[in-house]
Amino acid sequence: MVDKVALVSGANKGIGKEVARQLGKKGFKVLIGSRDTSRGEAAADELRKDGIDAKAVQLDVTSQASIDKAIDFIEKNHGHLDVLVNNAGILSDTAAGIDTSVDSVETTLQTNFVGPLRLLQKSVPLLEKSGAGRVVNVSSSLGSHSKMADPSSGFSGFQYVGYSTSKSALNMLTIIAAENLASKNIKVNAICPGYVATDINNNSGPRSVEQGAAIVIKMATLPEDGPTGTYVNDDGTIPW
Ligand code: NAP
Repeated sequence: MVDKVALVSGANKGIGKEVARQLGKKGFKVLIGSRDTSRGEAAADELRKDGIDAKAVQLDVTSQASIDKAIDFIEKNHGHLDVLVNNAGILSDTAAGIDTSVDSVETTLQTNFVGPLRLLQKSVPLLEKSGAGRVVNVSSSLGSHSKMADPSSGFSGFQYVGYSTSKSALNMLTIIAAENLASKNIKVNAICPGYVATDINNNSGPRSVEQGAAIVIKMATLPEDGPTGTYVNDDGTIPW
């Protein structure tokens, strides 16, 4: 039987580590993408103690060299990739609305949008070799134009120009990539995990990482007749 292989970016903590744990429990060999090698090794160690086949790979999504090295490693050691979870992300806006710093917007776009594009481009040949590649882009409801434009949605008050714009861009990448990659039998979907207590929000969210990871796992393990090019959370479709 051929191994099932998954790569999760930003898997050294938070939602990404839980996604890696749950994919591991489902029998995937999980590659723990972490920009800091020692943090990645610590997470992989923790998961291995839980009986999971986990290995840390250095992966800074803002570095093409780091991405190339990580994917070349996977090609050499596994020959294919079944699941890519573009999970790594930052929220670094320095102020609400247009007073945020331009530098923080640029850094956020590089990490949350350009990084996933770079990683996807480099991963496509390996995802194609899987025969049933699945890509999950970890977006946010804060990337929904419809929700942000609706004062009654509860989201429009969160005016993170860098963060929301980066997630909107990731959503657009999802739409385009899903169309581009359908003929290669690669499904690409965007998800929102909900408001989850992690370091990105100083652990203020009401949801657990287990709850946040559930929709990622669902879209990472879609059956052959599952959807592509969607934007979803636990409750179903999120308006773009
Ligand atoms: P988190 O605990 O802060 O985890 C973020 C992860 O991304 C960390 O592993 C971090 O690594 C990594 N990362 C940041 N920049 C990176 C880079 N340049 N290269 C590689 N890895 C990098 O936050 P989280 O809540 O689990 O976030 C995971 C994803 O969920 C993010 O995309 C976030 O936008 C999304 N999300 C979260 C919520 C929520 O309520 N928590 C809601 C909607 C969407 P370091 O440890 O090295 O910093």
